[in-house]
Amino acid sequence: MANLTLVIRLSFLDDVDPEIASAIRDELERQRNCLELIAAENFTSLAVMEAYSNVMTNKYAEGYPGKRYYGGCTFMDVAENLARDRCKSLFGAEHVNVQPHSGSQANMAVYLALLKPGETIMGMSLTHGGHLSHGSPVNFSGKMYNTVHYGVNKETEMLDYGEILDVARKSSPKLIVTGASAYPRTIDFKVLREVADEVNAYLMADIAHIAGLVAAGVHPSPIPYADVVTTTTHKTLRGPRGGVVMCKENLASDIDRAVFPGVQGGPLMHVIAAKAVGFKEASTQEFKDYQFQVVKNARTIADSMIDQGFSLVSGGTDNHLMLVKLNEVGFSGKDAENALERAGIILNKNTIPFDTTSPFITSGIRIGTPAVTTRGMKEPEMVQIAEMIGAILQDIENDEVIKRVRNEVTELCQRYPLYPELG
Ligand code: PLP
Repeated sequence: MANLTLVIRLSFLDDVDPEIASAIRDELERQRNCLELIAAENFTSLAVMEAYSNVMTNKYAEGYPGKRYYGGCTFMDVAENLARDRCKSLFGAEHVNVQPHSGSQANMAVYLALLKPGETIMGMSLTHGGHLSHGSPVNFSGKMYNTVHYGVNKETEMLDYGEILDVARKSSPKLIVTGASAYPRTIDFKVLREVADEVNAYLMADIAHIAGLVAAGVHPSPIPYADVVTTTTHKTLRGPRGGVVMCKENLASDIDRAVFPGVQGGPLMHVIAAKAVGFKEASTQEFKDYQFQVVKNARTIADSMIDQGFSLVSGGTDNHLMLVKLNEVGFSGKDAENALERAGIILNKNTIPFDTTSPFITSGIRIGTPAVTTRGMKEPEMVQIAEMIGAILQDIENDEVIKRVRNEVTELCQRYPLYPELG
């Protein structure tokens, strides 16, 4: 219980650094008293937090289990082997590397392993829902590699696999990247494998957002189809902040060499220990039930937003998130994000497909259900949340409405307490 005590009372930190202790306490209160609807966020268990706030942070363990560049790694090997084996069995992967510090570094390692600088990556465009590390010009991926992009179909606002095949045929990529940060629909990995085969490209699936859904069987798995699968561990998967690469056995040593020594030095062993805990939790029936509820909750909010007259990108959702279009309502995603935050509803502005505004302004907002579902909220609370969002968006400058919703948010948060064990 030592670490749990540390989280609750911050007894050492209070002495050494009261300013940071106070920021941590304030953040705990903020998380408790706000509705967290950022699709990329979640609340880890206290077991995960214990695993990464301890002596594991002290140890250098460059290399891999059984083959380290430092002495004293016996227990590092125990933790890393547990993380690797659990992740392998959770996703059915042939080989797993649990060392990437983040999702972006997992992707960086894959590119280093499979491509030479200047070769072509084909990824989903950022403005249509892709991630920076899928070839955006402001990211290393767009600076070091030749990049081409595919997007969603203008009419359906969904992936158009025929169009993806056309782009692939024209650009002959060495690597096709699938996966997204803001795409509300199921991805057909089997068809993308066929596209990759047709143009003789590797296929990488970045499942950072949907990893929890994939682990629970709520979204089809890319494992049978993709050469490489990357993910973060902290979104729907609900582990600590970090990244993972999974691959076929024939790429295992290339991927391992690309992660270390290719793009990283010493692994964050405390995070790897916490990843092991997260994978263990993710293999339970309770976690599967949770993921089904995440999707049900997202559908409930989506239906309610549509009932209130809002338009959603692609008309709805199959997963944990949705994008509300604001291009016809006369204010931006930024305005909406700010007004909702004043009421304690936390989400993010997001570009929508064919958006003409900047990513700092945007014409949409992204709503996700992983965190509120972790608090135990179900369909009735989702309807309440959607109606609160609707009330604010329909009268965005009305302080009275914001005040009323803030009170309702506080009451709802109290009914579903976060980390009650922390006192
Ligand atoms: N890939 C996708 C699809 C993401 O959505 C994200 C994060 O938002 C990442 C990669 C990058 O993860 P990280 O923030 O850990 O670098």
